[in-house]
Order: sequence, then C-alpha cells, then structure tokens
Amino acid sequence: MVKPGDRTKKKKFRKTTKGKSKRVFERGTPGKQSCGLCGKPLHGVPNHKPKSDILKLSKSEKRPTAKHGGVLCGECRRNLAEETAKVVSKAKSVEDVSIKIRKYMVKGEKK
Ligand SMILES: [Zn+2]
Repeated sequence: MVKPGDRTKKKKFRKTTKGKSKRVFERGTPGKQSCGLCGKPLHGVPNHKPKSDILKLSKSEKRPTAKHGGVLCGECRRNLAEETAKVVSKAKSVEDVSIKIRKYMVKGEKK
C-alpha cells in the first residue's frame, strides 16, 4: 500500500542495478508564493527551488525586510499602511476597514 504522504507526490519508475524497475516517489519543488490579500506572485521570494537550496540562503535573501514582507505584495503593504494611519489618527474607525485588511493590522494599532 502507498503511504498516505506519498499519494500526492509524483510517481516515477527507475531501473535498479539488477535490471528490475522500482517505483520511486519524487519530492516536488515549491511553487510561487502569492500575496495574502490579492493573490499576486510575490517579489523578492525564491521560487521553484528545492527546500534544501532555500534553507542555505541568508535571511534577507528569503524575503524582503519590509514590514509584512514575504506575506503581502508591495501594493497591499502600502494600502495597509495607509489604512492603519487613518485608524491611528482617528479619521476612520476600525469597523470601516475591510475585514481582510484588519487581519494584518497590528493589535496595538487597531485602537
Ligand atoms: Zn497584494
């Protein structure tokens, strides 16, 4: 029986040294990372590399150092900062901000 963890992996047949074919499950490479709000592909994040290669990179090579970098795209980050500033300066109440954006607001900034 196939292990439950192998069901989604790609199946390949390899020849062994004895000449028989053996079933091998291959690990796929991670796909493109997308923005948490709009779903656009993120910039500055390594794509289509095996996990072992990504682990060797430095922290700054894995994601942008900006706030919410590696989670939200640049456009959504700017939008979030604007909405947060409006809430902090009391030009807008938290209830007026859409629920999607509210999720990413820092708790201290929500008041
Ligand atoms: Zn976005």
